[in-house]
Amino acid sequence: MSHIAFQPKGRAIEVEADYVVVGSGAGGATAAVTLARGGAKVALVEAGAWRDPQDYPGSTYGAMRDLFDDWGSTITRGRAFWPVVQARTVGGTTVINCAICVRTPDDIFEQWDRERGVGGPRMAKEVGRIQDEIERELCAEVVPEAAAGRSNILAMKGARAMGYDSHAMTRYVKGCVGSGQCLQGCSSLRKQSTNLNYIPEVLERGGDVISSAPVKRILFEGRRAAGVSGRFSHPVTRARGADFRVRARKAVVVAASATHSPALLMRSGVKSPALGKFFRAHPGTGIFGCYDDPVDMNIGATQGWASTAFRTDPGLKLETLSIPLEMVAGRLPGGGDLLMERLREYRHIAMWVHAVRAETAGTVSNGWFDKPVVRYTLNRADMERFRKGMALVARTHFAAGAKAIVPGVYGLPYKLGPDEVRLLEEGPLDPRCYVAILSHLFGGCAMGRDPTISVCDGRGRAYGYEGLVIADASVIPTNLGVNPQHTIMALARLFSEELLGD
Ligand SMILES: Cc1cc2nc3c(=O)[nH]c(=O)nc-3n(C[C@H](O)[C@H](O)[C@H](O)COP(=O)(O)OP(=O)(O)OC[C@H]3O[C@@H](n4cnc5c(N)ncnc54)[C@H](O)[C@@H]3O)c2cc1C
Ligand code: SF4
Repeated sequence: MSHIAFQPKGRAIEVEADYVVVGSGAGGATAAVTLARGGAKVALVEAGAWRDPQDYPGSTYGAMRDLFDDWGSTITRGRAFWPVVQARTVGGTTVINCAICVRTPDDIFEQWDRERGVGGPRMAKEVGRIQDEIERELCAEVVPEAAAGRSNILAMKGARAMGYDSHAMTRYVKGCVGSGQCLQGCSSLRKQSTNLNYIPEVLERGGDVISSAPVKRILFEGRRAAGVSGRFSHPVTRARGADFRVRARKAVVVAASATHSPALLMRSGVKSPALGKFFRAHPGTGIFGCYDDPVDMNIGATQGWASTAFRTDPGLKLETLSIPLEMVAGRLPGGGDLLMERLREYRHIAMWVHAVRAETAGTVSNGWFDKPVVRYTLNRADMERFRKGMALVARTHFAAGAKAIVPGVYGLPYKLGPDEVRLLEEGPLDPRCYVAILSHLFGGCAMGRDPTISVCDGRGRAYGYEGLVIADASVIPTNLGVNPQHTIMALARLFSEELLGD
């Protein structure tokens, strides 16, 4: 077992394993541990550095520097520049996410079956079995009451008053203490990101973890994926280090995310008419509710409340999301006395968000310096859903007792009262007027039975190649309308079990 961290320029590093897994996030870590449990020798190659949770920076900008992919600087190219947020660290985006654990809805397997010839009841059953296992392994639990925090409690009250279903979230968290810091990494080791469990287990089982090691390309012998190569990148300065080459005796498993996996396949020369297509997301935004009494949203679980009541009509998910002062400040217009006055309200603000189950499909390609280029502009129907989501969140705030909301929409007043929600319903349809982000990403290497519209089959095996499996969010051919980590992990395990059986 060994962890090979950044190596300065010099002799090239050579490693050999049965399986090489690229990327250590939700998909990669699950694939790696499954293969290692099956007795295989695994090499897990990760672009980001291994960070000790005690050394997580604790601030938003520190997290962007140390944990986020390129400081969170990947943005959509299209009508609006919206951030495409992911992590680049050992553990991938599980380190900076909120660990919300939602089972794959049954209608998704039906949809995949109908539209892509994969999924169906058999996959639903297998994914269900695996999700049971993962829930046990990663200690999935409902947010404890003591860690709920006032923002989550208020949201529950608002939904109840509005008469729609909502619930306290289930998350992969062991005894949350409600520090409200999931997005900066859980330094109290409660959140079960993969750097705390699956990745150490890969090492214990004799695998190698190679960090600060962005893979440049997949190596092929004929049509067989035979390994990967790249060059170490310093975790702080990004200075180039030694070259590395990791040989795969059996297969290369690509799990570098919905943006990086298609980009890596493209620069490795993989040919598929579907590569980089069918990129989808759940774009969303937050609305601040202003309450008379302090909410102190950073006390309590970062995310603790959700509603899926609008998942199919109009296609939305609602959640609480507590953000720290520096992120709130970044969304407040004004300066000097005005800004100080607005900031004084911070303790009285709760932020709740909506995520649109958007039908819009975009593309991913490989850009300069191996940076993925995401082209994505929400279509009109999705923008209408987006507006509806904002109005729904605003109404929930008012039903919970908010005196005003801060919509953060270009062209609208700074604050709106309960009688002004229609301004959101009639708000602009131009995406540039909204501060949105994309955090749930899908596709780019979509799975399916037809190779003209699919990069891989329903077991992640790339069409036209041997020993090349894709096992992350990029294989998901549709959006889900729920948080994706549980689905990604289950698919990665399913594909890895299949590989072990080959
Ligand atoms: C802020 C935020 C909050 C979220 N909250 C939740 C939540 O609560 N619940 C939920 O279900 N989902 C959540 N998500 C989404 C979820 O985290 C992702 O869908 C999931 O982690 C994606 O898994 P993945 O394996 O595809 O990619 P990732 O987890 O992003 O892992 C990909 C890994 O590959 C590495 N990599 C990339 N390129 C290379 C390369 N060339 N060589 C080597 N390594 C490479 C990356 O550094 C990264 O570590 C959230 C996302 C964000 C951004
Ligand atoms: S709220 Fe705090 S303790 Fe709970 S999982 Fe998130 S970071 Fe960890």
